[in-house]
Amino acid sequence: MKRGKLIVLSGPGGVGKSTIVQELKKRDHFYFSVSATTREPRPGEVDGEAYHFVTPSQFQRMIDARHFLEWADFAGARYGTPRQPVLDALTDGKDVLLEIEIEGARQVKQSMPEAMMVFLQPPSMTELEQRITNRGTDTPERIAARLALARAEMAAAGEFDHILTNHRVDEVIQSLVSLATS
Ligand code: 5GP
Repeated sequence: MKRGKLIVLSGPGGVGKSTIVQELKKRDHFYFSVSATTREPRPGEVDGEAYHFVTPSQFQRMIDARHFLEWADFAGARYGTPRQPVLDALTDGKDVLLEIEIEGARQVKQSMPEAMMVFLQPPSMTELEQRITNRGTDTPERIAARLALARAEMAAAGEFDHILTNHRVDEVIQSLVSLATS
């Protein structure tokens, strides 16, 4: 059977990656990996669906057991992609989409150079700053940290194979499905 394609969707925090993934899940094209994280579940997030929620020591054991395809520290928590389900899905001929931050994306490129690296960028820096500033109940310090991180993450765009601009969710989705099927 033809092997599936691995697509890595990355981009600065606040750009709208998770909205794209929510919509893509309705299309039933991609296999989505469930990451492990040490952060607390948000209201409505189900363990094993949104993430596998684990303790820092469980996460460390998973690192030591080489359980992860990639993992990274982000905004005070750890996030990682379990390796085996991704490899199994690709072998089964399924296209896999990983929605991860930049540091993890770099690791995937290293270990699986055939991965298609896609960077999602905001229509403008102003728009990204507005999204980060308006989101949730973050403290001013946390908003400042998130803004600084997002600016640094934007500088990584040139490392990616494709850059998509998040003007409209349906356009981005169409582009991702086209990249997978091209
Ligand atoms: P959130 O806490 O808002 O769900 O996610 C924060 C960031 O972590 C997002 O940029 C998301 O793409 C990223 N992320 C989610 N899962 C993983 C993962 O398994 N590995 C890496 N490196 N980043 C992840």
